[in-house]
Amino acid sequence: MSTFNAPRGTYDLLPPDSATYLAVREAMAAPLRRSGYGYVETPGFESVELFARGVGESTDIVTKEMYTLTTRGGDELALRPEGTASVLRAALEANLHRGGNLPVKLWYSGSYYRYERPQKGRYRHFSQVGAEAIGAEDPTLDAELIVLAYDAYRSLGLSGFRLLLNSLGDRTCRPGYRSVLQEFLRGLDLDEQTRARIEINPLRVLDDKRESVQRQLAGAPMMRDHLCEECKAFHEEVRALLTDAGVPFEDDPRLVRGLDYYTRTTFEFVHDGLGSQSAIGGGGRYDGLAEMIGGPQLPSVGWALGVDRTVLALEAEGVDLALPAVTEVYAVPLGEEARRRLFHLVTELRREGVAADLAYGGKGMKNAMKSANRSGARFALLLGERDLAEGVVQLKDLASGEQTALELAAAVAGVRDKLR
Ligand code: AMP
Repeated sequence: MSTFNAPRGTYDLLPPDSATYLAVREAMAAPLRRSGYGYVETPGFESVELFARGVGESTDIVTKEMYTLTTRGGDELALRPEGTASVLRAALEANLHRGGNLPVKLWYSGSYYRYERPQKGRYRHFSQVGAEAIGAEDPTLDAELIVLAYDAYRSLGLSGFRLLLNSLGDRTCRPGYRSVLQEFLRGLDLDEQTRARIEINPLRVLDDKRESVQRQLAGAPMMRDHLCEECKAFHEEVRALLTDAGVPFEDDPRLVRGLDYYTRTTFEFVHDGLGSQSAIGGGGRYDGLAEMIGGPQLPSVGWALGVDRTVLALEAEGVDLALPAVTEVYAVPLGEEARRRLFHLVTELRREGVAADLAYGGKGMKNAMKSANRSGARFALLLGERDLAEGVVQLKDLASGEQTALELAAAVAGVRDKLR
């Protein structure tokens, strides 16, 4: 114990569990790397205004959940609550969209911060892997991203998740739907805060999780019945491409998501083993966002997958990832000269790509063997005075107990042979 604890709503990633997080991030990134997405990294904080304009002034994220600060120089900054606005800001700033090579395809991985009420699966600091395809209005791109997310989850061995799909329309058809929806909502029995939301962002009311609200929404008008011909055709094409790629989905006409920038395609991956915080990833098309943050019109689509919740989903399904061994060989020196020789050997093994570790701190044989067993290594390398005199080192199989003497001078090759 120390005097300090991790801040409320946060937790530390420690070995051995941290290896699972690395593997999940890697599994999410691998399909992107194979699909023309380049890695992007942006600062952990941005101007508050970027998120206010980008994510939406009326969203919970902006009104309640941002960690904001004023710098000594007077700048208003916020720890990033999500990735899309930052990535688009970076792409515009560097003019990646100029030169005609569209879409610009980017992926990222990092920490995000939201001042939320902590519970299982909902943290104030969490980790996402995200992808954005900027500057193309093409349903194939929407389908590509959804397929890549689906493949990432499947490659981890997950199966208990569902893909929810919807279209939110565009600037042609959404305004009309918005009015129809507002009219319907104004006739309901709702609290003051929700009534205010009807005027600012009525679609968000559909997302209200409270039973009392959901009950009244039974007959609400749905965007899908108000889509213009172009949005309808676009959405049908996304659906057809997904079906063709073998990606099952459920049409969810109520899916609106918590960020204001979405247009047309919106989707969420939910896992049925996670309780209330079931969304393991989500995204959609955001054709208006570039303009909202002062750029040109750049129709784009993207997603963010939650690393923390994906790890919880693996636990819920009892999936054990086949992680590479942390340590394959554990060296146990007995005496000063043996320590030097084994340190040399361990260094050589590591340079040859073998995961090797050594008993440090002058441990006795018994303690050192305990550490060897705890390390998960397949073999221990034992070196004592008699071995030194004979020019050998003992390679002990920690599972069977079987021991073989290897010539010390040729030990690297000998160990590699045995590992093979
Ligand atoms: P969002 O942009 O809010 O849809 O977030 C994308 C994904 O990030 C979600 O589907 C979650 O898996 C994850 N996520 C969002 N907020 C949190 C949080 N507070 N704690 C843990 N994971 C989160």
